[in-house]
Amino acid sequence: MRRRKSGLSRRTFLVSSGATIITKMTNSYGQASNQEIGTTMKHEQRQHPHPTKDENPHLKKQVVYSKKIPVKYECDVLVVGGGPAGVAAALAASRQGCHVRLIEAHSCLGGMGTAGMVPAFMQFTDGKNFLAGGIGKEVLETLRKADGTVPPDGMGIRAETLKRVYDNLLTEADVVFSFYTKLIDVLTHRGSVQTAVCSGKSGLYAIKAKMYIDATGDGDLCAFAGAPFEKGDADGGMMPGTLCSLWANIDWDKVHASGLGAGGSQLERAFQDGVFTLEDRHLPGMWRVGNTLGGGNIGHTFGLDGTDEESLTKALLWGRKSLLEYERYYKEYLKGFEQMELVATGSLLGVRETRRIIGDYVLNLEDFKTRAVFEDEIGRYSYPVDIHIARPDKESYETFLREHTSFRLGTGENYGIPYRSLTPKTLNNVLVAGRCISTDRYMQSSIRVMPGCYITGQAAGVAAALASKTNLDTRSISIKELQKTLKDMGAFLPNC
Ligand SMILES: Cc1cc2nc3c(=O)[nH]c(=O)nc-3n(C[C@H](O)[C@H](O)[C@H](O)COP(=O)(O)OP(=O)(O)OC[C@H]3O[C@@H](n4cnc5c(N)ncnc54)[C@H](O)[C@@H]3O)c2cc1C
Repeated sequence: MRRRKSGLSRRTFLVSSGATIITKMTNSYGQASNQEIGTTMKHEQRQHPHPTKDENPHLKKQVVYSKKIPVKYECDVLVVGGGPAGVAAALAASRQGCHVRLIEAHSCLGGMGTAGMVPAFMQFTDGKNFLAGGIGKEVLETLRKADGTVPPDGMGIRAETLKRVYDNLLTEADVVFSFYTKLIDVLTHRGSVQTAVCSGKSGLYAIKAKMYIDATGDGDLCAFAGAPFEKGDADGGMMPGTLCSLWANIDWDKVHASGLGAGGSQLERAFQDGVFTLEDRHLPGMWRVGNTLGGGNIGHTFGLDGTDEESLTKALLWGRKSLLEYERYYKEYLKGFEQMELVATGSLLGVRETRRIIGDYVLNLEDFKTRAVFEDEIGRYSYPVDIHIARPDKESYETFLREHTSFRLGTGENYGIPYRSLTPKTLNNVLVAGRCISTDRYMQSSIRVMPGCYITGQAAGVAAALASKTNLDTRSISIKELQKTLKDMGAFLPNC
């Protein structure tokens, strides 16, 4: 980058004028090297292999993109992503007295649980202990009071009510948030994120924060900042997605009386009759989310990479198309669904797995098996290993069943989640929360469900608040103080 030869350096000029300049070399993968004017940033090596220029001819074509953008906002803590993890992080940090801003790419809070139409919460407890204590419990209780769970004491979600509950919780806690605001890049210096580059409806602008929390589910912020990550299995294969759906006119009394259930009990018959294009035996099913409403977690989009818009587009097309086959299956092979009508599909594709950011500790299957206890644990959880099938075949389904039934904890059993799984390697002022924290694939499939995300989000929020008040380094906060604050909020931390 050229510097001015005399007078104000370009960087000094820009800082004094409250603007940030981004200069990009973009390629067809949307991966960009980022440089803040006046500083030569060394782009850190990524763990995940990408095609080289020689392998992909499109990468030879590049453009240089340079633009001066306003620093529109400054805050103590910037939370990127408003799913369960981001909501919990923002609430927790704000309640610790920080000025918190949250940006969300979509049009509502809640991520997969609202825009993605995921129809139900998985377990908040281990059958004995309330594991998602604090904000997780508060969300559930507030939702219940607002008549947002179905049945009233159950786990089915009325998504529109949950959206409103999140809106109110964040507004009342003085969290400033905006929708239609996407993080598209960051500027980093010596392991610290200096600036978040955002794309809003108003155009490109920057936000500067002391601390950043990556709650994007996909680890976008960490990846843009050059933190190492892994994706999927050894071959890069990830769990399939699901386009969740909302159906009306279901006779739930008849469903229950039939004994056939709302899932896969009649699939083999339907396969024989040629109802389906794919023999996908893994059918989570339909949840009751209203008097006559059903929330469908039905069908899979195989071969998905949720960090690639072309892959997401293909998956959405398949998801919409394949629902016709499921509609036939539910109407003709199960009872109580004969009159059902499709109301809507998720405005976000249901993505179960993308990047796992590598942190100072990688939570792993051994920790699950041993019910690990960590000195720096920020919570404990217990949902079983739940890696959805990679392919629509019998072998894949048998692997899923084997893992899902054998990697499962008993009543009152749970595993620890260390703080170090929230601290991305190479970054000082960034924490990661939600489904992309530092785990192996097995543990990702357990911690990814919503109550798990409340636990890690809440901890990231408190830790960011502590760091923002001290020296802005996630690794030098007092773990004891973090744990005490979390305990005071209601977190389940019996070992500290
Ligand atoms: C099909 C399916 C079924 C599931 N079933 C269940 C279930 O039954 N029960 C359960 O508890 N869990 C279930 N889960 C898991 C759970 O819903 C998700 O793993 C969980 O919502 C993840 O929370 P999160 O906050 O980490 O990310 P998300 O919920 O994905 O939220 C991330 C948010 O960040 C936003 N975002 C992403 N990138 C950016 C960016 N660059 N800039 C700004 N914003 C951004 C997104 O728009 C989104 O709102 C299911 C998931 C799927 C996909």
